[in-house]
Amino acid sequence: MVSHNVVGELPGTKHPAERVIYTAHWDHLGVGLPDAKGDRIYNGAVDNASGVSGLIELARAFAHSPRPQRTVQFMAVTAEEKGLLGSEYYATNPLYPLATTVANINTDGGAVNGPAKDISVSGDGGLTLQDDLIKVGKQHGRYFTPDARPEAGGFFRSDHFSFAKQGVPAISFHSGMDLVNGGVAAGRAKAEAYTRDRYHQPADEFDPNWDLSGMAQDLSILYDLGEDLANSREWPTWKQGSEFKAARDKTAAARK
Ligand SMILES: [Zn+2]
Repeated sequence: MVSHNVVGELPGTKHPAERVIYTAHWDHLGVGLPDAKGDRIYNGAVDNASGVSGLIELARAFAHSPRPQRTVQFMAVTAEEKGLLGSEYYATNPLYPLATTVANINTDGGAVNGPAKDISVSGDGGLTLQDDLIKVGKQHGRYFTPDARPEAGGFFRSDHFSFAKQGVPAISFHSGMDLVNGGVAAGRAKAEAYTRDRYHQPADEFDPNWDLSGMAQDLSILYDLGEDLANSREWPTWKQGSEFKAARDKTAAARK
């Protein structure tokens, strides 16, 4: 079977060889075993049509703004659910050198339950890009909640991991649990209900009752994070002790 990653880019005005890459996987599970209602279509509305819609909106927003100095790349990667295959392919056959790929900002699942007071990431990779996200989040009035169970391996289970393995600073963003309406209790209840009733099931479908205002707020944070990087000379780095640091250090000369 052949499948494709879909890539768009806005070339940087001053440092086009240096790029910030946003990713979201476009695949889901296809047609499979029916659920109790006989539904066999695995829509993947949250996982990850929501992330892809965010990717497209980020591209639209960047396209309508003054072009940053570095290139901004938008990539919908395929076959995440088959084991990160699309992102792995890109990271091992990149269109442009990874040595001067500044960062990867990934989203896998958008906020459909309304705005949260906090933001989070999958796992803890130990990198300054996460600090940059925390700083931008603060400017947007959001606090940072670390992954409650990094030992569950969240860092290794979405497409940013394919970039991290090759040394590119990479994070997978997600919205927080502390909902403006109902706090952590409501956020946790909704997350648990999603995992139980919808995640990787035909019921992961569009719901007209979703409140997408939280996703809009989240995307403005990711926009600012990417734009700040694309207009800076900053190269995010892995911190001491990170297993991904050595791979990045090998190409340090390319980032002078
Ligand atoms: Zn996913």
